[in-house]
Amino acid sequence: MGSRPLPVPPIDFHAHLGEVRSFHPKLKGWVRSGIDDLLSYMDEVGVERAVVHSLPPRSDPYATFLSSEQLLEAVKGLGGRLIPFCCPDPLLDCAASGLGKLVCEGCRGLGELKVQLRIDDPRVVRLLKEAEELGVPALVHVEEGPLFHYCYGIESLPSVLRELPDLKLVVHGPGWWSHISAERGPELYPSGPIKGEGLVHRLLRRFDNLYADISATSGLNALKRDLEHAATFLGEFQDKLVFGTDFPCLSEEGQYGPDRSHLNFLLSLDLPARALRRILRENAEDLLREA
Ligand SMILES: [Zn+2]
Repeated sequence: MGSRPLPVPPIDFHAHLGEVRSFHPKLKGWVRSGIDDLLSYMDEVGVERAVVHSLPPRSDPYATFLSSEQLLEAVKGLGGRLIPFCCPDPLLDCAASGLGKLVCEGCRGLGELKVQLRIDDPRVVRLLKEAEELGVPALVHVEEGPLFHYCYGIESLPSVLRELPDLKLVVHGPGWWSHISAERGPELYPSGPIKGEGLVHRLLRRFDNLYADISATSGLNALKRDLEHAATFLGEFQDKLVFGTDFPCLSEEGQYGPDRSHLNFLLSLDLPARALRRILRENAEDLLREA
């Protein structure tokens, strides 16, 4: 897989710096990845730039990433190769003003917004509204699983998008990608062919300002479960999807990013050159363009 050359230097729209917990049976404990590790992955794979996301404090017990302030400090002097997205704690009253301050200090977007609140909770919407007003994109993790509910209640996403018509919103996570099929069970990562178009198709068609990243297990699984569907889906939504990995999170084969799983999968499909260019790079460039 993946023998096709890269048509453009990709932008990884979803990476982090810090520690992640391993659930791999052959790797116990935590894995820590710093700037040099991220840059080393990018050099090896040919990734030109990466969007690096912070997380709100204590939002995920299995990840300890650099805080917003640490991240802004860490990416200085790298010539824009690492693009920082920050996420204040939506539970704090000063979250919206905090985002404004971070943007003044170099933050390029809101992310990764991953909190145990509904997607239409006023505290989530308030922060998204601030991103809209500041003219920066936002990236949200949606999950409705047995262990965690993050930015859940996807059925309310249309009302949020209607309220924020000028916000460029990138979604990802199992609570989004499991809706790629109309027929879905309770699994976090459903397998088997797509049975009818799901909410994912309908929302991407309906909202010009909605995008999705294909990072981590959720995005890759949604595509890999049905190869025929994946090619059609990536073709139709080539202007709405962005390549991302969720580095340094761990995969079955090692680590997302260095394992090239997302990249090799995209390259293995017989996608038109334009679609590959859009997904690997150009949509990310459009999202990152200053408003
Ligand atoms: Zn992430």
